[in-house]
Parts: sequence; C-alpha cells; structure tokens
Amino acid sequence: MQANILTVGDEIVSGHVVDTNAAYLAGRISELGIGVRRMSSVGDDVAEICGEIRSALEDADLVFITGGLGPTGDDVTKQAVARAVGRKMVIDRDLHARLAERWKGRKPVSPRVVEALALVPEGAATMGNPVGAAVGLDLEHEGRRLFVLPGVPREMKSIFEGAIVRLLKDLPKDEVSSTRIIKTTGIRESQIESDLAPVAGDLPVSLGYLPRPEGVDLRLTAVGADPGVVAGRLEEATQQILPLLGAYAFSAAGENLNLVVGNALLERGITLAVAESCTGGLIGHLLTQVAGISACLDRVIVSYSNRAKIESLAVDGDLIEARGAVSREVAEAMAEGVKRLAGSDLGLSTTGIAGPSGATKTKPVGLVYVGLAHAEGCVVSEHVFAGSREIVKLKAAVHALDMIRIHLAGRGV
Ligand code: ATP
Ligand code: MG
Repeated sequence: MQANILTVGDEIVSGHVVDTNAAYLAGRISELGIGVRRMSSVGDDVAEICGEIRSALEDADLVFITGGLGPTGDDVTKQAVARAVGRKMVIDRDLHARLAERWKGRKPVSPRVVEALALVPEGAATMGNPVGAAVGLDLEHEGRRLFVLPGVPREMKSIFEGAIVRLLKDLPKDEVSSTRIIKTTGIRESQIESDLAPVAGDLPVSLGYLPRPEGVDLRLTAVGADPGVVAGRLEEATQQILPLLGAYAFSAAGENLNLVVGNALLERGITLAVAESCTGGLIGHLLTQVAGISACLDRVIVSYSNRAKIESLAVDGDLIEARGAVSREVAEAMAEGVKRLAGSDLGLSTTGIAGPSGATKTKPVGLVYVGLAHAEGCVVSEHVFAGSREIVKLKAAVHALDMIRIHLAGRGV
C-alpha cells in the first residue's frame, strides 16, 4: 500500500508558508503502516493541479491533497480533482443544508459562498470538519482512493485524525512498518555509527541518523507482517543498541531531554535552583515545559551582568575581577550561590561567550562553563560549542540539563 501527497497553494511554492501539512501527513501515514512514495507541491492553477493529481494517481493506491478548498477564486482544488477523474461538479444537497444550518443566526454569509462550498465532484463523499467550514472529500477512481483536505493545518489534522485514520487502520496491508526514536546527546553521528558497528549487520531494523543541535536522534524502522512482529523487532534492536551507546542515550521512547530530566527530578523529589548567564533563561524555559515541575524547581535567576551575579547570587566581586565572569570559578560560585539562596538540593549555573563577539585572547566564542552544585560539592564542565549565538545557547542549556541527568544516574559528572 503506497501513498502520494500533494499540497496546493501559491503561498507554498513561493516559499511564504512552510509546508507543514505534507510533513505531518507523511509522518502519520507512515506510522499507520503505509509507505509514502512522493510528496509534491503546486500553485493555485487548475491545469497544474489536475496534472499533478493524474501523475499522483498513476503510482499510488492513496492520494492525499491539501489546500485550496475554500470559497474564494484562488481555491480551485475541487475543480482540478473533478477534471482529473473526469467528473462534473454538482451541489451536494446534504452538505448545502448543513452549511446553511451552520451559519443560521450568525453574520449572514452570501448564498454564493455557501454554494461554492457545497460544490463537489460527483460521487465524492464528504468528511465532516469539526473546526471549520470546508469539508474533506473522499472519492474512488479506478481502484485508487483520493482524499482532499483543507489547507489550514488545524482543519486538515482534525479531519485526518477522525474519519481518515479510522479508514486507514482498516485497510488490508501486505506489510506494516513502525519507527522508534532513540535520543542521544554529547556524541557525534559518526561515533554512534562506529559504536554500533558490531551489531549493525544483524539488527532487525534499518537505522537513520538525524543530527540536531541538541544531539543525534537515532531512528529505527522495522517492517513486518503484523504490528506484533514489528514491535518485537523494534524492541529487540533497542536492546542490542542501548548497551553500546551507554550514557549517551537518554530516551528510547523519543522523549526530549528536558522531559527526561524534569521527570527524573520529580520521581526522586530532588529540588533545583538555576542561575543562568549566557543561556539567558533558556534552561528555565526548557524545565518549565515539564508539567508539574513546580514541585522541584525553586527558582531560575537570569544574572547577566557582573552586578547581578554579585547582588542576586552573592558571587564575590573580587573573584569576577580576578578570573573573569566567564570562568570555572565564577560558574562554581553561581551554582553554589543559587543553591544556598534557594536551599535546594542542586544548583545549576551557566556562564559563557555566546558570540559572535566577546572573544578574548584566551577565551574563544562558544566557551561555556556549566556548574552543578550538589550535596558533596560542585562540578564544573568546560566546553567550546560551535555555531551561531542561538545554537551556542541551546547547546549550553542542553549540556547543563544533561549534567543533571548524569549526576542523577549516579555516574558522576
Ligand atoms: P479555507 O477553507 O480556510 O480557505 P483552504 O483549503 O482553501 O481552506 P488554503 O486557502 O489553501 O486552504 O490555505 C489556508 C491557510 O492554510 C494558508 O494561509 C496557509 O497559511 C495554510 N496552509 C495551506 N496549506 C498549507 C500547508 N501545506 N502547510 C502549512 N500551512 C498551510
Ligand atoms: Mg490556498
């Protein structure tokens, strides 16, 4: 079973709107065990859309189209579908009545608009849209199936997740596939590949490496006769891979590091206070994405200037003078200071040069010190992160969270 995806809109082919619909549909369709063969995009032109639909119908069982379903002149997808499958446009009386009902008692909508929305290629079934006016269409053509969805992502998702997912789950499939993400941080993709070399040839899955500033995601894809076989292959491969990655792997379920660290703090009832300089509150943002974290997170102080470090963290001014704000000693004083002020179990700090300016002879752009104060003392790690200002901040924040994870895992930091 194969699918093609076609997204329609001048705003997409001109680059004004990023095509998130295709990515969303491709991800969900693959998860449901259907292969995606091609994704394409085309502007709001009947002849062009019609040509793309015909070509999409040639080599896939299912074709998904989004965009251009509205009532305005630039919305021509339905006409293109009708032309591609050789049907005429007719008013769907039921749909017309439902639309008229929808607007009853509200600001009047022109009858022309209602009519335009109720026009469908003959024989197309409609799929209700709980969050908007444009409905989805489902039609069969020479053994192929065509789904036409609105362009607005929220409306597209709402129809897809309802009627279409139910239908796709029931379709007979020769094979199903499923993926799992193992998340890593602090290790390069080339290193992962060589670490996995001893088992790579025997794994019952295919591997994909997805490097991101926060770390490399390892994507495992298994294919098999049924969901039970596929789940077994993913689990078997995960058990072979995890020991080889050691502490670099932090989730075998695709969870982000902030969630893993936040939940570890919550599970163990460990309290934390944070003092951020170069990360500017990013660690605070990441931690406060975790629901319930208020039980563990006492405070996040963004102490950017030297004065703020002295006034709000009781860092010694002479120490800053002697060592510089970006130094091992100041990172330690910040972590200890915030821990003492909060009375928390852990104190985390960052100080560094995010760039692009600010480097000195001895301190390059990207130099970051992260301090973690705990019951037995304080560890400080030094890194020089590569990348833009934004990337350096992100890498520093992720590394800081990772220091907590490794500390909690009892492996020392
Ligand atoms: P409506 O009934 O609201 O007019 P429509 O099906 O006609 O829906 P479009 O007019 O094509 O949809 O697009 C509506 C909006 O949805 C666009 O302004 C765009 O921001 C967004 N959109 C359309 N297609 C995509 C896409 N492929 N990915 C992300 N956003 C999209
Ligand atoms: Mg459009």
